[in-house]
Amino acid sequence: MKRIPIPRTIRELSDVFISNGHSLYVVGGAVRDYLLNTENNDWDFCTDALPEQVMSMFKFVVPTGINHGTVTVHFKGGEYEITTFRTEGNYSDKRHPDSVSFVTNLEEDLSRRDFTVNALAADCTNGIIIDLFDGISDLKNGVIRAIGDPYQRFDEDALRLLRMCRFCSKLGFTADIPTYESAKALAQTIQAVSKERIYDEISKILMSKVPSVGLKMMHSTGLMKYIIPQLDICAEIEQDKVGSDNVLSHIFNAVDAAAYYNYSLTVRWTMLLHDIGKPSCMKKIGNFTRFFGHDIESEKIALEVMKELKFSNAMQADVSVLIRNHMVRYKDDWTDGAVKRLINRVGVQRLNMLYEVLWCDQIASEGKARLEETDKLRKHIERVLDQPMSLKDLAVNGEDLMEIGIPKGPELGKILSQLLDMVIDYPTLNDRETLLRQAESLFNTK
Ligand code: ATP
Ligand code: MG
Repeated sequence: MKRIPIPRTIRELSDVFISNGHSLYVVGGAVRDYLLNTENNDWDFCTDALPEQVMSMFKFVVPTGINHGTVTVHFKGGEYEITTFRTEGNYSDKRHPDSVSFVTNLEEDLSRRDFTVNALAADCTNGIIIDLFDGISDLKNGVIRAIGDPYQRFDEDALRLLRMCRFCSKLGFTADIPTYESAKALAQTIQAVSKERIYDEISKILMSKVPSVGLKMMHSTGLMKYIIPQLDICAEIEQDKVGSDNVLSHIFNAVDAAAYYNYSLTVRWTMLLHDIGKPSCMKKIGNFTRFFGHDIESEKIALEVMKELKFSNAMQADVSVLIRNHMVRYKDDWTDGAVKRLINRVGVQRLNMLYEVLWCDQIASEGKARLEETDKLRKHIERVLDQPMSLKDLAVNGEDLMEIGIPKGPELGKILSQLLDMVIDYPTLNDRETLLRQAESLFNTK
């Protein structure tokens, strides 16, 4: 009989249920991850007590998801999400049950869950694990298997299709054949899932240790074709890089590199989308394939994808700038002006992410990062950082130019940016008198 250790406060929480004639179980990820020896700070609980019964047992309870039977109990300094055992009615929209009914039997609750490894529960009084669907043996064998009839389970809730990819990626598992084949047959139903949930699931795949496991599964089941078709077709574009022979597998290698170095979600999304414009830029020149302008095209398509998947504005801005600049190749003959223009284009706050993007791309293209090149760029950036670089650093502003008779309007903006261009190349010219004189002559010779 397998047990999981139950922390003291959770045992005390469970005692309150017992003394009220009910029981409390921890279920899902916490049991699974304990058996796999991996960390999990997210404990989900379930009980036979009805939500209003739970609310009457404790002083501070918030009805966080009362329609689905979930309440949050505040107990001895902790917060615990507790859901009443339930079964679900039909899923006519392929995502949400038409109705939820509460039941008193744990087995019924566990049988509506998605995969056997997620349907393990443990009694909170003694930690004894309840394994009704052979989840422990699937954990040992590294298998994701739907509970019951896989086709029906995916047909009920299409989000489970992506959850299958996510758990395979997170745990390094493979899907059992009937589960995988059913997912493949129902791939197009993923379109019923909200864009926000799709974004969350893909982000979780990207944050796993080897994201390519889940991404490859998204591609091979057909899910990717329905979610990000522009990425899916990258598999048809041949390209000779280290460890990959097409654009999609190069992209997957770049994402894996970002995961290997534990880079942020922003960098991982950037790697996923950084070459998405290659199919539309491909040109055959003799024996070579070239992708001129793919940085700009990839940014454009990435923006469409990010809007569709409802990325935050901040994330859209970061990912676009990083993609647009992912082809930067620093050379020893770069002038200070060129470096400052790069800083302006990227933004100081994104420079570290840009180095990471360059490294991931290099690792996925050449097998290793060109650290020396980035190091030179970084040092050159440090040398120029305190020099004037943007309009706010100029020794004159728009009002100064209006005072010498240049009217407000687009012309004035153009003159300011010409002055900035000059100062970026020749910082010693950044004094008020010189700039006013120069502005006057630019205005008079227009
Ligand atoms: P994580 O470590 O990512 O939190 P988890 O297994 O706890 O993994 P959650 O998304 O927190 O996953 O869900 C908690 C539990 O609820 C799952 O283990 C599973 O039993 C059940 N579950 C969640 N979403 C679904 C779904 N769409 N269909 C069926 N069961 C689900
Ligand atoms: Mg969880």
